[in-house]
Amino acid sequence: MPELPEVETIRSQLEKYLVGHKIEKIDVRVAKIFASGKEKLVGGRVKSLRRFGKVLVIDLTNGYSFLIHLKLTGQVVFSSPKLPNKESSYTHVVFHLDKNANLFFNDSRKFGWIKVEKTAEVEAEPFVKKLGPEPLKNLTLKKFQEILASTRRPVKILLLDQEKLSGVGNIYANDALWEAKINPRRPANSLGLSEQSKLLGAIEEILKIGLKYQGASDQWYITAEGKKGRYQEHFLVYGRVGESCRRCGAKIRRVVVGGRGTFICANCQK
Ligand SMILES: [Zn+2]
Repeated sequence: MPELPEVETIRSQLEKYLVGHKIEKIDVRVAKIFASGKEKLVGGRVKSLRRFGKVLVIDLTNGYSFLIHLKLTGQVVFSSPKLPNKESSYTHVVFHLDKNANLFFNDSRKFGWIKVEKTAEVEAEPFVKKLGPEPLKNLTLKKFQEILASTRRPVKILLLDQEKLSGVGNIYANDALWEAKINPRRPANSLGLSEQSKLLGAIEEILKIGLKYQGASDQWYITAEGKKGRYQEHFLVYGRVGESCRRCGAKIRRVVVGGRGTFICANCQK
């Protein structure tokens, strides 16, 4: 699932390409993805782009915005005469823009969604409102310590809970826990002071590296330019089952924590 670095890469690229374009027409081919409100967007021009956790928000000049959640396999791809990307067989929504440009929403599994809101009400929208603080934005060490201390759930499960902290998903949680040498199964409230601080530092560092490589394209994710990210070439532990730990050489194992595939070096992560 696209996480903070992937969605932020899309946001910052679209900021270059999309701002100023007018939406002329919207084709919705799979109704459950974009259930209602498309007529409010037609005629609007793109003013700015925001991101809340894994949700992309596109604000128009007419007072309306739309929220996009990519869920597991969503893609948002821009196309113009200078950047000629094509529709795929998974293109379920097409925003026809002026100057022969298009914005495609592709989604193989069809779990993604697009929702229209008044711009002034985006932050009060229930999904956005429930999001926890975000690393690299407003997650302080003090707040992080309170979140960890609040539950005995495995620390990795807590990191994935968007209502506790937002933006981190399975890839970056695995890599941050490895970087901080913490076992993903540890109860969140068992972390000591130095582990708490090391873990927050690791989350911030790994997200920055993810951003630098424009996200991880090990599965469906591509950038708004239609290209692959490169973080998958730099995974620390995620997906590296059977390979050697980059720190101690022990074999990386795959375990399941809270139903999610989890990768650990049992030698390093205590
Ligand atoms: Zn190791």
